[in-house]
Amino acid sequence: MNYYSINNRNHIVDFAEATLRGQPPGGSLYFPENIPDVSKLIDEMSSLSREEIAMQVIQPFVGNSIPQADLERIISDTVNFEIPLIQISPDISALELFHGPTLAFKDVGARFMSRCLRYFNRNSTRNTVVLVATSGDTGGAVVSGFSEIEGVKVVVLYPSKKVSKIQELQLTTGGKNVFALEIRGTFDDCQAIVKKAFNDPQLAKAFNLTSANSINIARWLPQQLYYFFAFQQWTYEQPPIICVPSGNFGNLCAGLLAYKSGLPAEHFIAACNANDVIPRFMVYGKYTSRNTISTLSNAMDVADPSNFIRILELFQNDLVQLQEVLTAVSISDYQTVETIKQVHKSFNYVLDPHSAVAFSALQQFMQSSYGQGYIVATAHPIKFPDVLEQTIGEEIPYPDSITSLLNKEGKSVKLPAKYEAFVDWILSADMN
Ligand SMILES: *Cc1c(COP(=O)(O)O)cnc(C)c1O
Repeated sequence: MNYYSINNRNHIVDFAEATLRGQPPGGSLYFPENIPDVSKLIDEMSSLSREEIAMQVIQPFVGNSIPQADLERIISDTVNFEIPLIQISPDISALELFHGPTLAFKDVGARFMSRCLRYFNRNSTRNTVVLVATSGDTGGAVVSGFSEIEGVKVVVLYPSKKVSKIQELQLTTGGKNVFALEIRGTFDDCQAIVKKAFNDPQLAKAFNLTSANSINIARWLPQQLYYFFAFQQWTYEQPPIICVPSGNFGNLCAGLLAYKSGLPAEHFIAACNANDVIPRFMVYGKYTSRNTISTLSNAMDVADPSNFIRILELFQNDLVQLQEVLTAVSISDYQTVETIKQVHKSFNYVLDPHSAVAFSALQQFMQSSYGQGYIVATAHPIKFPDVLEQTIGEEIPYPDSITSLLNKEGKSVKLPAKYEAFVDWILSADMN
């Protein structure tokens, strides 16, 4: 499979190059040249293991870039935790994507991408240095996914005192190849340093720098897998209405890609918080960017979703065709909190704020549409203890992965929010 740049169809690369580059030169995103047909896989699915399903879905996208046996190993490392579809109410289930090492769905993409990079780097004498700025959640999945991966060093920048204790431990207890930089500044300061680093010729000469951003195809494409695992567990006659809590729209876009290749679905819903550019776009056909609004579902506080152009590309920029498949809904913080309370009380199920946005959106959609559906539950509720205390007033037990984290001691390097300080540090650190 080859990939083209959405802005320039003449710029074509294979899977390996698209993964190593991250973004096409001059911006835009990579997009697959054709969409595989999975109808045979759907027919045979009930008798296949998750690894076999994953292999059939992903192999066409990887093409000749990774040999079969290596890809099989990468896949089995990627899907090595449970992804159950749990019934919540008579018509709504949850696809729980939070049983991975950092309790967030981003574990799937981060694990797959890190192992692809390890493969592509196997004969290189230079390490690849992955740079990430994080406000909390993404960084944990990247640190965990890339920890102990040979040939790759990870540098993660996070704002001092602005991440939760658990998040900080996830960032600072990675393997020997992970460096956590505690920046005395804000998330924006961290992001500014990372952006500048990618355009710095001095650093480009010293390292193979890359980003583990969600726009990288090796993080985006494996997200299709769990939509297939959900369908394998789906027991109703009619295909599911699928509701995805969305921020940068990578997760939803992967689901729509699976749908375009033949995965059965009745309809898709993009569940957004107060950041409603896409819900507005879907109604008015006009894209008006606005400032980011802070909400309880903060991993979805995105004002200008980077993956939406991939969704438009998937539907040939035809809004009417897209509207037939996708509805976008905006849910307030008030509705989010009420939903957590209601679902806990009625069904004894605890939603995290992101999954609650999805539950509320799906419930709203179902008022005027017959059927059954599932929400994509993107994070474990334990990651949001403050919201839980406010809403359900009881503590929920820590999963084992968190308990063991609490006994560890984190390691970080404290730096001022100055680019020069970062450059001095990285040039003197042992990256090779
Ligand atoms: C990243 C994230 C999202 C949003 O996913 P996108 O692919 O960016 O739309 C939703 N929920 C949680 C918990 C996340 O961490």
